[in-house]
Amino acid sequence: MAENERTGKRIVQKYGGSSVADADSIKRVARRILAAKQAGNDVVVVISAMGDTTDDLMDLAQQVSPDPKPRELDMLLTTGERQSAALLAMALNDLGARALSYTGSQAGVITTAQHGNARIINITPGRIEKALSLGYIAIVAGFQGVSEATKDVTTLGRGASDTTAVALAAALGAEVCEIYTDVDGVFTADPRIVKGARRIPEISYEEMLELAACGAKVLHLRCVEYARREGVAVHVRSSFSDNPGTIVTGHADLKKGNAMEEAVISGVAHDRTEAKITVAGVPDQVGKAAAIFRIIAASDINVDMIVQNVSEVATGATDITFTIPKTDGKRAVDALNAARDEIGFAELRYDDQIGKVAVVGVGMRTHPGVTARFFEALARVGVNISMISTSEIRISVVVDAADVDAAVQAAHTEFGLDGAEEAVVYAGTGR
Ligand code: ADP
Ligand code: ASP
Ligand code: MG
Repeated sequence: MAENERTGKRIVQKYGGSSVADADSIKRVARRILAAKQAGNDVVVVISAMGDTTDDLMDLAQQVSPDPKPRELDMLLTTGERQSAALLAMALNDLGARALSYTGSQAGVITTAQHGNARIINITPGRIEKALSLGYIAIVAGFQGVSEATKDVTTLGRGASDTTAVALAAALGAEVCEIYTDVDGVFTADPRIVKGARRIPEISYEEMLELAACGAKVLHLRCVEYARREGVAVHVRSSFSDNPGTIVTGHADLKKGNAMEEAVISGVAHDRTEAKITVAGVPDQVGKAAAIFRIIAASDINVDMIVQNVSEVATGATDITFTIPKTDGKRAVDALNAARDEIGFAELRYDDQIGKVAVVGVGMRTHPGVTARFFEALARVGVNISMISTSEIRISVVVDAADVDAAVQAAHTEFGLDGAEEAVVYAGTGR
């Protein structure tokens, strides 16, 4: 392991659920961690719940209670990471290493009180520092913390063990934060969809932020935000190979020696977690759009894309369509229906059979015509676009859920990203 040959460094390693799916995997990961420790590094490990444990716990909660209290859901979900942390410490101790496991709270991860999506507001890793100074490997349960205000246990959002790892790396002044997963790094598209996706050796925080925001779940969005803000170097690699992976950094000369140098588009991302709401027949009057989004905001729901049609001459009414997380769909519809008289709309339509596909690349700034090429590629494979949004380095579209795979592949091919080798997916269910 070339990365671990450097000695005397402080490193944070994070292993995702598919890397610790069963007892044998836990022992395998323990051997990797031990190798990093034996190379002379101070090692802190952030661990996810085993395999699909978090999803299974969610399903179990649903069977017991259709609408569980968020506080209790967090108490339940955090046990997944606690199991894997303890098991990993046991495996390491059996290998002759000295390891101690900690909950997020014990590791000093202090958060806001918002259950299910709490934000880290402070890290006080006194116990981790102490453990390191005594020569222990510290194992921290990811994805969780404790609310400063209520002292209750919180979770940081799905996939947020990545964020725990980067936050700890920043607080501990670690040299690097290594994110170990079931693919060989960040690819030009999800290797589960695009067989010819290529590994990106180095990527800027900026592009990684857009990819993560558009659904490339290999890194949690807030982990990338945190890494950029704190200047943490993130190294994404596979826990199943010794391949070099992807470095996420902010260096200006990033593209030097990078095989992607000529690429206009660095990657294609997709997201199947959103739903679309159309508020039809909204009176075209000042303040109506504000009223709609005030109601959504009051329900603590994040809006992603928004489209407002030109109002019809005959009726003076317009349609406003926007996307939100599917998991917030019912609450959004209920809240809007409750305000129907106040807003005066004619009809509410809800569609969760949609997907978002985005092309991302800083090359877009200097290459005109990217939008036309993207849309032509979608047209060639018969994919209809229902919404569009852009940033300086991204173009996103909403399409039918059934068209997502074809759209991702078409965009990938159009922008010359297809590689000759088949990308390897080592494990995981993709759930
Ligand atoms: P972990 O359990 O290790 O946190 P995740 O399932 O959260 O792993 O993230 C890894 C998965 O992200 C990969 O298996 C892959 O299917 C998916 N993925 C989506 N987009 C990309 C991309 N651009 N590059 C690599 N992986 C991607
Ligand atoms: N176990 C949590 C999840 O599945 C957190 C994580 O794995 O990052 O979302
Ligand atoms: Mg993940």
